[in-house]
Amino acid sequence: MLENLTDRFARVVKTMRGEARLTESNMQEMLREVRLAMLEADVALPVVRDFIAKVKEKALGEAVVGSLSPGQALVGVVHQELTALMGGDLGADASELSLAMQPPAIILMAGLQGAGKTTTTGKLAKWLSEGSHVQYGRKTGKKKVAVVSADVYRPAAIEQLKTVAAQVGVEWIPSDPSQKPEDIARAAVDYAKRHHFDVLIVDTAGRLGIDEAMMLEIKALHTLLNPIETLFVVDAMQGQDAINTAKAFGDALPLTGVVLTKVDGDSRGGAALSVRHMTGKPLKFVGVSEKLTGLEPFHPERMAQRILG
Ligand code: GDP
Repeated sequence: MLENLTDRFARVVKTMRGEARLTESNMQEMLREVRLAMLEADVALPVVRDFIAKVKEKALGEAVVGSLSPGQALVGVVHQELTALMGGDLGADASELSLAMQPPAIILMAGLQGAGKTTTTGKLAKWLSEGSHVQYGRKTGKKKVAVVSADVYRPAAIEQLKTVAAQVGVEWIPSDPSQKPEDIARAAVDYAKRHHFDVLIVDTAGRLGIDEAMMLEIKALHTLLNPIETLFVVDAMQGQDAINTAKAFGDALPLTGVVLTKVDGDSRGGAALSVRHMTGKPLKFVGVSEKLTGLEPFHPERMAQRILG
């Protein structure tokens, strides 16, 4: 993941660290390299512009130019800003899932068809049922998880979730294409309450593009469910389109976070860097493989460290 960006940054950082003296002009030159690295990684242009402006302002403001090891100081500023860009500015816990409520904690999955919603529903269910969830720095223990599909347009989608649920060993609540999505949701919440589930994950229908009917439907589901987490699932391989889709969903729904899938296929990594800036929402997880073990919580600080080496 992010191999290209990491490679490019490694070179710029090496040059930066090697600078015994840093003048405004060679700093400009290095920032130009950073800019190019980001653009080549397919980071959205407004994000790149804003990032470079912030680094420059901070570097000048914090007297990087006059410091004892200016190159190192500049790397420090880039690191800070990269962390902030990916959501570190939202606070240490922003990228964690919030489940602190009277159970069942409801998680609503939104996104286009093929983005990886059903797979991610299975991955999340596995992750939560195995007790991997961390909040405020502490594991919260194994959760009793149920999943349900409100995708009544593709019978195969309901079956797919059933298979995934069996694979990860969580309860699948049956639903049927003849039902209305809202009825499915209502019955599932009722079931989860009666059987004392900690978490209910609701998978929803996706369309090939954004359309009004779909948005109205998911908005109605959101109102009915009042989920503590509304996660937007988006395919990293979509590049810049991923960001536009995220914006459209963000305008329609009060998203609490984003899951970027298929980052294993996106060596450029632009979407991972742009998504927080363009949507205002934290990236909470990344999907790193087709397998149901392929989900990683996203940590802005660690990711910045990984990129800068
Ligand atoms: P949905 O239509 O949004 O529910 O999407 P699916 O969950 O059916 O996923 C669509 C395809 O993407 C499937 O072939 C998944 O195996 C694949 N997929 C989902 N997440 C990932 C991921 O993180 N990495 C890879 N390589 N493939 C993924």
